[in-house]
Amino acid sequence: MVDVPSDIEIARTAHKKPIFDIGQRLGIPQADLVPYGHDKAKVSSQFLAGQKGGPDGRLILVTAINPTPAGEGKTTTTVGLGDGLNRIGKRAVICLREPSLGPCFGVKGGAAGGGYAQVVPMEDINLHFTGDFHAITSAHNLLAAMIDNHIYWGNGLDIDLRRITWRRAMDMNDRALRQSVGPLGGVSNGFPRETGFDITVASEVMAILCLASDLQDLERRLGDIIIGYRRDRSAVFARDLKADGAMAVLLKDAMLPNLVQTLENNPAFVHGGPFANIAHGCNSVVATRAALKLGDYVVTEAGFGADLGAEKFFDIKCRKAGLSPAAAVVVATIRALKMNGGVAKSDLSQENVAAVQRGCANLGRHIENIQKFGIPVVVAINHFSSDTLSEVEAVRVYAQNLGVEAILCRHWAEGSAGIEDLAYKVVELADSETASFQPLYADELPLFEKIETVAREIYRAGEVVADRSVREQLTAWEAQGYGHLPVCIAKTQYSFSTDPTLLGAPKGHVVPVREVRLNAGAGFVVAITGEIRTMPGLPRSPAAERIRFNQAGHVEGLF
Ligand code: ADP
Ligand code: MG
Repeated sequence: MVDVPSDIEIARTAHKKPIFDIGQRLGIPQADLVPYGHDKAKVSSQFLAGQKGGPDGRLILVTAINPTPAGEGKTTTTVGLGDGLNRIGKRAVICLREPSLGPCFGVKGGAAGGGYAQVVPMEDINLHFTGDFHAITSAHNLLAAMIDNHIYWGNGLDIDLRRITWRRAMDMNDRALRQSVGPLGGVSNGFPRETGFDITVASEVMAILCLASDLQDLERRLGDIIIGYRRDRSAVFARDLKADGAMAVLLKDAMLPNLVQTLENNPAFVHGGPFANIAHGCNSVVATRAALKLGDYVVTEAGFGADLGAEKFFDIKCRKAGLSPAAAVVVATIRALKMNGGVAKSDLSQENVAAVQRGCANLGRHIENIQKFGIPVVVAINHFSSDTLSEVEAVRVYAQNLGVEAILCRHWAEGSAGIEDLAYKVVELADSETASFQPLYADELPLFEKIETVAREIYRAGEVVADRSVREQLTAWEAQGYGHLPVCIAKTQYSFSTDPTLLGAPKGHVVPVREVRLNAGAGFVVAITGEIRTMPGLPRSPAAERIRFNQAGHVEGLF
C-alpha cells in the first residue's frame, strides 16, 4: 500500500509555473491576464468578448453516484481527467467551482481536488482566492441594506415587511444566524422584522453570476431579483430599489473567470460556486464558454450526485447557456457503493462484494438517467487503497451488463499516469459524436409538471405532493410570465428520495414539495423538498479546530 501524504502536503510541494505560462499555452496574451499574485489570474473581459464566434471544444461532465458524507472524488476525478487528457496529448481545460468557506471549516474540507489530482495554490483557492465570494456577499448585502434603508425613509414602494424574501448572506457555516429579528434598538435603527442569513453559495447573486453571459446580462438579471411582495402580492424588484447598477459594479471583477493550474501544470478555470440543492451547482457559464473556446476538451464538475448535479447541469445550465455536452463520467467509489448496499459507515473498509453488487443498483440508476439526456456515459471507479480486486470486478461486470465501461482510476495516488485508460475512453466517447443532448422537459411544460417529470424520471418517485398554496403559487407565477423557467429541486444528496437514509435505488416514494421560491434573476423556480438548509451549521468538532500554522509557518489542517 502506498503511503500518500495529505492533500495540503502534496499541494505544498507543487512545482508551479508562472500563471502567464499557463495562459500562454491557451493562447491568452499576458496583457489579457489580470494577475492576482504569481499563480492566479483573471481573464480580461476584452479577451473573452473577442472569443465569441470561434469553434467550441467538447464538453465532458463529471458527476457521481449518491455519495458518502466525505465526498466521492468528483473534483479529484475532474482534475485527474483533465491531467490525463493532457498527458495523452489532448488540449484539455478544467472547469471547477470555487470552494466555500463553510465546508472548509466544517466537515468536508476544501474542494480543490485531492491526492495527486489537485488544483493549486490549494490554500488560496480554498480560502479568499481572488475575492469573488466577498464581492458576491457584498453585492447581496448591499441589496439587503437598501431594502431596510428604503423602508426607513418611508417605504415609498409599499413593501410588505412580512413578505420580504431577500435575506442577508455570509460565507460561513453559522446556524446562529439562520433566523433573526432586526433592526432592534429604536426609532433611529428602523422597523424590526423577521429575517436571517444564508450562506453565500446559496445566494441568488451567486446563481446569477454563474448563469450570466456578460456584465450587461448580469445587470439585467440583478434587476430582475424579487426582494419581496406588497400587500396586494405584487412583486418588488431589485430594479425598483435602483440597486442593480451598484450591485453589478461590485461584481465587475468577480465576473471574470479565474485561471489556475493543476499539480501537473495544466490549465484550470475555477469560477463561481452555487449550491447544488437550492441552486444549480456548476461553475460559471462565462468560464465554461471561455474554456470551450480555448481547449479541445473541457472537463467540468456538477455538485452532489447525478440526480441533483447532472440534472441541473443539463436542465438549467446547458439549456440556458445553449451548451451541448459530448460525454459524461459517473464517479463511483467502492465505499459509496457499499454504503448504498446497506453497509454501515464504520464497516466500509472491509471487503464486501455482495454489498457492492447491491449498491450497484444506485450506479445503474444514474447511468440510465444520464442516458435519458442523450449523453454517452463511462464509469470512473475512483480507487481507494482499501478496495479489493473482487469488489472492483463486481462493478465492472455490473456496468458491462448495462453496456457501459467502468474503468479503474488511480489519479488520486498516481496523478495523470493513473487515469490514462479513462482519458482514452472519454476521447473515444466524445469524438464518436453519439451525444444528442436534449433536456428532460420542454420549456412550455407547466411548472408543477416539470417538478413531476424530474421526480418521476430521475428520482423514480411515485408521486409529488404539495399543499394547495404551493400549487397556487406556481400557477400565479405562470400567469406572471415565469412559466417557461426550469425548476431547481432542492433535495438531499444522499438518496434518490427525499429521505437521506433511503439508499440504493428506491422507487415509488413520495416527494413532498414543502415550499417554492422564484429566483427571477437567476431564472429558475426552486422547489424545496424535505429539510434543506440554506445556512449550514458546524459539526461538534469542526475542521477549523485543526487549522493552524505549523512551526515552519505553513498552513496545516486544510484538506
Ligand atoms: P467531491 O468533489 O465528489 O465532493 P472530492 O474530489 O472533493 O469529492 O474528494 C473528497 C475528499 O476525498 C478529498 O479530501 C480527497 O482528497 C479525498 N479522496 C478523493 N479520492 C480519493 C481516493 N481515491 N483515495 C483517498 N481519498 C480520496
Ligand atoms: Mg467537488
